Amino acid sequence: MRSERTIPNRLSAPVQLEPREATVGTYSIHVLGCKVNQYEAAQIARWLESRGIRPAREGETADLVVVHTCGVTTAAVRESRELLRAAERTASQRVIVSGCAVEDLQGQAKEVLAVPSGPGWAARFQECLEQKLGLRPRRELHLFRFPNHTRAFLKVQDGCDLRCTYCVVPLRRGRSHDRPLEEVLAEARGWIQAGHRELVVSGVNVGLWGRRRGHSLDELVAALLELPGLERLRLSSLHPRDLTDRLLEVLANSPRAMPQIHLPLQSGSDAVLRAMRRGYTVQQYLEAVERARRWLNEPAFTTDIIVGFPGETEEDFDATLNVARQVGFSRIHTFPFAPRPGTPAATAPKPVPPAVVKERMRRLKELAADLARCAHQQWCGRSVCVLVEEWKDGTAGGYSERYMPVRFAAPSSLVGTVAVVQVELADERGLYGHWVCAP
Ligand code: SF4
Repeated sequence: MRSERTIPNRLSAPVQLEPREATVGTYSIHVLGCKVNQYEAAQIARWLESRGIRPAREGETADLVVVHTCGVTTAAVRESRELLRAAERTASQRVIVSGCAVEDLQGQAKEVLAVPSGPGWAARFQECLEQKLGLRPRRELHLFRFPNHTRAFLKVQDGCDLRCTYCVVPLRRGRSHDRPLEEVLAEARGWIQAGHRELVVSGVNVGLWGRRRGHSLDELVAALLELPGLERLRLSSLHPRDLTDRLLEVLANSPRAMPQIHLPLQSGSDAVLRAMRRGYTVQQYLEAVERARRWLNEPAFTTDIIVGFPGETEEDFDATLNVARQVGFSRIHTFPFAPRPGTPAATAPKPVPPAVVKERMRRLKELAADLARCAHQQWCGRSVCVLVEEWKDGTAGGYSERYMPVRFAAPSSLVGTVAVVQVELADERGLYGHWVCAP
């Protein structure tokens, strides 16, 4: 891992940048990747707005463009690079590139300020605004906004202490560091007062929250679920080892905890899981699923699966398909394996030929669609509670308690409320029904 001192704050050879406070009046932010990045992008917007800079309107060229990148896969790095190039072409003043792919993009852009993810990122970003661009705070803005979201992402933790052999995130964001309980609760209260109906507990590996201080995630979740005014709470993603009985008991005891668990499987083969250094076996994964089924009311499971990890045989891949069928995931995020520099898997023997990876991806996506259809159809003829997030041409859309997309005819005034919907139809994309009432 690079030390803090070796990380540049520019992507190219130094250029003379004079502070130009008066000329930066508008900004735009492009963000890629996970909920942690979404949260950080909202933080960046707050820092800019507290300096008197406003979001650029549609069609307006921003004076400052921030590209908050994702480095988790090579596809994400490629997309980050494209966004950066587009920003360079359009921004009339300055570009800041930030996030997990900064090191991948080194040397590929001119006159771009760089703030890589990692410990101290927030302080370094604000320092960059002040020292490189001369943008000093003018007013204090405590809360920030999540555009187009009735949900708010609550970042409780960053970094990861695990070392999955394919993952670049710990190399970029460092070891796990978390936020104290009181700080998280204060921010959550603010989101609830600001009108967010659902909070999503987010982090790089949320199960590590509190561990170094002798606390555990269930304590944080229990405290959040007690907050007055909170309607819905979800966990963004959990390592299977962290789905403990204590946590499940806390979730089971509150109607505000949504019965949907994102539990990354990555592979259904013990040999591949070992090579990935995931820290669980297929048996242990399935036991976690069974535990959740015992505690929660008809939980839905969503997951991530990597296809074509080095050494993955046809039997290993078939085992993954079998586990997926056994669990009945309602949503599978599929990723073709792509080596990330600096990770052990990047130099692992027995790479899977690209044509084989492509074919396995096709089969997995087909299965994912079948399983999603099956999971969704179980709700036909029943009612679901939907947090309405969008409305267009007479149709409202949002997510059910189990994070299934729902569409139904309704007035636009329902956006931001929780509506009861009677489900009539379902396919692999979601549920369709009619609005019954507010619950
Ligand atoms: S648990 Fe593994 S995959 Fe997830 S961030 Fe940590 S090292 Fe990466």
